[in-house]
Amino acid sequence: MDITFVGAGPGDPELITIKGQKCLQAADIIIYAGSLVNPALLELAKPETEIYNSASMTLEEVIRVMAEGVAAGKQIVRLHTGDPSIYGAIKEQMDELDKLGISYEVIPGVSSFLATAAALHTEYTLPDVSQTVIITRAEGRTPMPSKEKLSRLAAHQATMCIFLSISMLDKVVKELLDGGYTLETPIAIVQKASWPEQRIFKGTLATICEIMKDEGVERTAMIVVGKVLHSEYSLSRLYSADFAHMFREAASD
Ligand code: SAH
Repeated sequence: MDITFVGAGPGDPELITIKGQKCLQAADIIIYAGSLVNPALLELAKPETEIYNSASMTLEEVIRVMAEGVAAGKQIVRLHTGDPSIYGAIKEQMDELDKLGISYEVIPGVSSFLATAAALHTEYTLPDVSQTVIITRAEGRTPMPSKEKLSRLAAHQATMCIFLSISMLDKVVKELLDGGYTLETPIAIVQKASWPEQRIFKGTLATICEIMKDEGVERTAMIVVGKVLHSEYSLSRLYSADFAHMFREAASD
């Protein structure tokens, strides 16, 4: 394989997969995604590994480094934060590599919305509360398809994990309320989930803007909204005595 796209995980360097870690250790070239990738992961590289920060590179430059590396027979890792498939801009890289006939594989990673659930000690899918997780973002420079405006998604009242939007919190809250969530709906914000400096904020749609006002949380934060953040729910069928599944028979009376 010429290029390996690797999910770095949410921050804690131990949350990369074993496979991803092995690729980093073997790489001759690593192109990593700027400030969101924990620099501790780069310490896994060999001393002679060439390391590039893609934050200051254009797509063309990234592809050129990859193509030249492949031509020189080098092992190349493209290190993305969390899982590369979520807001990772990997498709445009893959399309360029396809044009050049360069092969690649993808090693998944722990996305930050999952590290956020872990930090919150939350289950996103509680029976009778929500069985759906919506992964989305507010509209910024990247326009949202009209059917995916936050207010339209909010109408489902499912659990929502909102990426890339903490700097627009006021607008997010307004759209969620416009979409039908009530002022009492719980909302949590986790900054830098799994990093040593992780911070957690909890409130409701009525209180969260005030809570966050002076906290200076401008980036690398996940917004989670939904009733799953409250604690009332039905017990899972999975462990109930009258629910048979592949590995357990139902109690007969
Ligand atoms: N591919 C990444 C997301 C990249 S988009 C993933 O799977 O997690 C960048 C956004 O991800 C940030 O704006 C923030 O909303 C979220 N994010 C990334 N790392 C985070 C972390 N450790 N804690 C909370 N949110 C994080």
